[in-house]
Amino acid sequence: MDHDHAPYYSRRRVTMMGDAAHAAMPFAGNGAAQAIEDATVINELFKNLESASQIEALFQAYDQIRRPRSQRVVEIARDFGRLYGFAIPEYGDDPDKMRSFFGKNAAFTNNADLSKQNQDAVELFKELVANDQGVAGGKVDANAGVQQVAGDVKVGA
Ligand SMILES: Cc1cc2nc3c(=O)[nH]c(=O)nc-3n(C[C@H](O)[C@H](O)[C@H](O)COP(=O)(O)OP(=O)(O)OC[C@H]3O[C@@H](n4cnc5c(N)ncnc54)[C@H](O)[C@@H]3O)c2cc1C
Repeated sequence: MDHDHAPYYSRRRVTMMGDAAHAAMPFAGNGAAQAIEDATVINELFKNLESASQIEALFQAYDQIRRPRSQRVVEIARDFGRLYGFAIPEYGDDPDKMRSFFGKNAAFTNNADLSKQNQDAVELFKELVANDQGVAGGKVDANAGVQQVAGDVKVGA
């Protein structure tokens, strides 16, 4: 069993990570990897925290950086399962098409620049703090990225 897309991971000073945020089917073998990516981003962000008043901005930065990628992995794992069952009509049981599907999606999970992901999160956090966003009454849209996730996730895209 997996989760449908979570509309947000963070609200004020509370956040979710790992399977609580993005439980995926086991077919992509990447759920724990995604939990570790969450943890490294949060760890990197906390290294840059200067006061408790910045925690909401910190969790917003985490949400906006990590949600699109981790939600896409939920979709990829679902599609791997369908592919294993020959249940994606455009791939069927064609080995070349299946190989190409696995290669493309394994590249998404395995070839990511995770240092850049950490760095992007820290830059976004600093931007949110500088603009006084992500704090109580701030202007951050917690749903930012949801459409992007939905748009990104297409079998064979
Ligand atoms: C069959 C299978 C194969 C998998 N293969 C892979 C793989 O090859 N590679 C990969 O990256 N991922 C794989 N995964 C996914 C991976 O196991 C999970 O994504 C990962 O364990 C999630 O880590 P987590 O810390 O978020 O959650 P969990 O590992 O579920 O940890 C949550 C912890 O919280 C505890 N807990 C729950 N409620 C409470 C409470 N109220 N109070 C205190 N503690 C509580 C639980 O007991 C548990 O110890 C696989 C999953 C399955 C099912």
